[in-house]
Amino acid sequence: MSRLHSTGIAALAFAALTASAQAQAPAQPPFATTKVDGTENVYIFRYGGHQSMFVVTSAGVIATDPIGLRRPAAKAYIEEIQKVTKAPIKYVIYSHSHFDHIAGGKPFKDLGATFVAHANAKARIAALKPDDVVIPDQVVGGKRNITLGGTTLELNYVGKNHSDSTLVMRLPKEKIIFTVDWIPLNGVQFRGMADNYLPDIQDSLKKVIAMDWDRMIPGHPGPGGRFGTKDDARTALAYLEDLSAAVKEAATAGKCYADAMRDIKLPKYEKFGNYAANLPMNIERYCDFYNRGI
Ligand SMILES: [Zn+2]
Repeated sequence: MSRLHSTGIAALAFAALTASAQAQAPAQPPFATTKVDGTENVYIFRYGGHQSMFVVTSAGVIATDPIGLRRPAAKAYIEEIQKVTKAPIKYVIYSHSHFDHIAGGKPFKDLGATFVAHANAKARIAALKPDDVVIPDQVVGGKRNITLGGTTLELNYVGKNHSDSTLVMRLPKEKIIFTVDWIPLNGVQFRGMADNYLPDIQDSLKKVIAMDWDRMIPGHPGPGGRFGTKDDARTALAYLEDLSAAVKEAATAGKCYADAMRDIKLPKYEKFGNYAANLPMNIERYCDFYNRGI
């Protein structure tokens, strides 16, 4: 096949894929800001498939993850905030150390924002020195309250889970939490659960379930843009407990890795959107835990 010919076929295939994707869902704008119903000052900024919470007070704004890895999200984020308020952006809080959520914060730094993260996130960023991640100015160990203009935002560390630096940000008055990447809404865990700590993630889920909140803003929009609930956290825990038990049995029978990854099915969860693609990789991660203690 000539190069021109194969390129032409690839272009046609791409056009067909694009057309079918457009037929399935109306195109959504690259970014959007929504005010959280029932609150006076809590907003969600979405850019592509990532999102962050920000809180507006008379004394300034508390922003979270810049979500600007290889894209100009922070510029859009700041402009969106400035449509709501001219008050200064006082803080940027990192949800955890992963670059897809925290890169690109320099435009916030240039405006004088103070960057806050868990101590382990700062250590990781300082060690890896990624090009486009602002090093936190301040760190949190176990717990810290940020109070600004009459609003309190709790920064809680509930142990290792999806990273060793995940914060659960809680607005006690609104009973809203913002925590990222580890409590799926009707989903299995992402791919091979890279950087996840086992079995610690299950203990962290129990701690989050015990906290006082009604709604969770996830770091990636939920199905239909909905919020997370405690039932989602309970389901996420039940899934990991069921997965862990099934893989433990397989590992004991010498079936890790390949046989377990092929044969273990968890039909209770088969309606989850990413079940077929990610379950084998989730199984592989638990095989690592039971065979190698990691
Ligand atoms: Zn992450």
